[in-house]
Amino acid sequence: MSEQRIIIRKQSAPTRCEICHQTDQFDPETYRCRRCAHIPLPLYNSKAMTRSSSYVVVASVLTFLAIFVGPCLGPLGATLGLVGAVLGKLELDMIKGDAYLVSKQKIISWARFAFYGGIVAVVFDMLVFVLILLRND
Ligand SMILES: [Zn+2]
Repeated sequence: MSEQRIIIRKQSAPTRCEICHQTDQFDPETYRCRRCAHIPLPLYNSKAMTRSSSYVVVASVLTFLAIFVGPCLGPLGATLGLVGAVLGKLELDMIKGDAYLVSKQKIISWARFAFYGGIVAVVFDMLVFVLILLRND
């Protein structure tokens, strides 16, 4: 048996859809094809789900801390809330552009909690901080 070798001379980003092999609906920046975006791909879906879930957990924990522990931490608590809100917003934007994640209500709810809760926490934590400063004067 002769030894067969494959030599990769050049690698480049995909320019066409892996499913329909067309270029017209394919976005080379996101690697997504608008024609095939609705076709369920188990591997892609579970990856998107895992990434999205872990992202939302981090955002929600930060917002949770900012709400319940943040008032004792002052500006640090507000910073936690701000990061939680930004991560929540990024996740919401990502969900909006994803044909699969858009149907995942649980992830959307937690992302909303992280975003809106984070904003409320920033205002609340800073308010508590300022009130404590004023009382100490
Ligand atoms: Zn396609």
